[in-house]
Amino acid sequence: MTQETIIAPATPSGEGGLAVIRLSGPKAEYYLKALFRPKRSTDQLESHRLYLGHLSDATGSAVDEVMAVVMRAPHSFTREDVVEVHCHGGPAVVRDILDQFLRQGARIAHPGEFTQRAFINGRLDLSQAEAVADLIHARSSAAARIALNQLQGKLARFVEGVRQQLVSILSHVEVQIDFSDQDIEPPDFTSAVSEVEEIWSRLDSLLDSFDSGRMLHEGVNILILGKPNVGKSSLLNALLGEARAIVTDVAGTTRDTIEESLVLHEVPVRLIDTAGIRQTNDPVELEGVRRARDKALSADLVLLVVDGSSSLDADDRLALTACDPERLLLVVNKKDRGQVAFAAPFAGLEAVAVSARRGDGLDDLQLRIRDMLFGSHPAADEHLLIYERRHKDSLLTAVRALERFLSATRELLPPEFLALELRESIAALGAISGASVTEEVLSQIFAKFCIGK
Ligand code: GDP
Repeated sequence: MTQETIIAPATPSGEGGLAVIRLSGPKAEYYLKALFRPKRSTDQLESHRLYLGHLSDATGSAVDEVMAVVMRAPHSFTREDVVEVHCHGGPAVVRDILDQFLRQGARIAHPGEFTQRAFINGRLDLSQAEAVADLIHARSSAAARIALNQLQGKLARFVEGVRQQLVSILSHVEVQIDFSDQDIEPPDFTSAVSEVEEIWSRLDSLLDSFDSGRMLHEGVNILILGKPNVGKSSLLNALLGEARAIVTDVAGTTRDTIEESLVLHEVPVRLIDTAGIRQTNDPVELEGVRRARDKALSADLVLLVVDGSSSLDADDRLALTACDPERLLLVVNKKDRGQVAFAAPFAGLEAVAVSARRGDGLDDLQLRIRDMLFGSHPAADEHLLIYERRHKDSLLTAVRALERFLSATRELLPPEFLALELRESIAALGAISGASVTEEVLSQIFAKFCIGK
């Protein structure tokens, strides 16, 4: 074996109760044996078993009391010999222990190198390797769950299954190429066509999940919009559960936007409270209105807040014009004061009645937000979701190629053309699993990792 043995702290730097230092490579165990003296002396360290003992320097003086474990290949994260040293979590201790191993001949790992080795050694496919980074960066339990699903190979198995199916269709089509110049009956691709149609629809619905997946993964932008004094700040605070925005009785005091992060029904959300929208000549306020409009266009959802206890006016209609009706939920606030009937254009909108002051209707509001955002793709475990743009692009390429395949069969084009499209689709799916992917893409993916992963 020519692989170097790499080492890195697996836990974040700083003080902690414990820190874990990880080694991977052919000499991991050899280095450990040179430095580690188990309390109960044994000739052999059993694989996957923790031993208490001392880690010493070359002169034999103890650096720390540690627990050490050897995980022999191939039963380890990288499929190489892996050693973990669990030491006391102080930066100086960690540095000292690293130094001892470096002196032995280990090399500091590059960011993501452990995971990269797991990929190279076939322990993970590329989508699973990416999920390791995503799981580490996940900011909500839903985001963590979809990353874990992907890490456990849900996407990998699905994509590989489809790819294999296409490979077998391709072989069927390729057989026909040899005969196509002979003067015989045109080949019958009926069953290939119906199989491809079925694959197309499965890939297409996976593509559809991207928006939900992305929102779960990256978080959702929700904008709170409305004229002054309808209760936007109160709503933000009520949802946040603590008073951070300033609530006032004077119209138009929240001049700029306030952003808060929270987790609504497991979904990471950035909640943005805007300056009130109203007809005005004040340049500062006009600027606030302009920004609110801009934000409304890029938000995943706009909560248009109105005061339900008084009839709606030109300022409410102005706020409405800033919204995309597809991504709009009308929040009828102040329901503790009763509610007047709304006329068009408000009458037909998706609406929830709340009292931000009393906290009434907030649960209902949160459920409606979730339904509007995720509709048919809830963050349920059983749903396969994609959330990486790279996966979306590859799927799109695969789907487009299948569409061209189908139209080529309708036009009775020769089998060479059909094979071409199938090969393109197969290659695009291979890019997701890493079966066909360039060095450049690989290094981009592993660059997302931090050291020690
Ligand atoms: P914003 O300008 O839209 O951000 O409105 P604020 O949140 O500052 O609220 C304006 C006024 O409406 C304040 O006096 C709030 O206490 C009051 N308010 C907000 N929500 C409610 C509500 O649900 N019921 C009642 N009665 N008053 C509310």
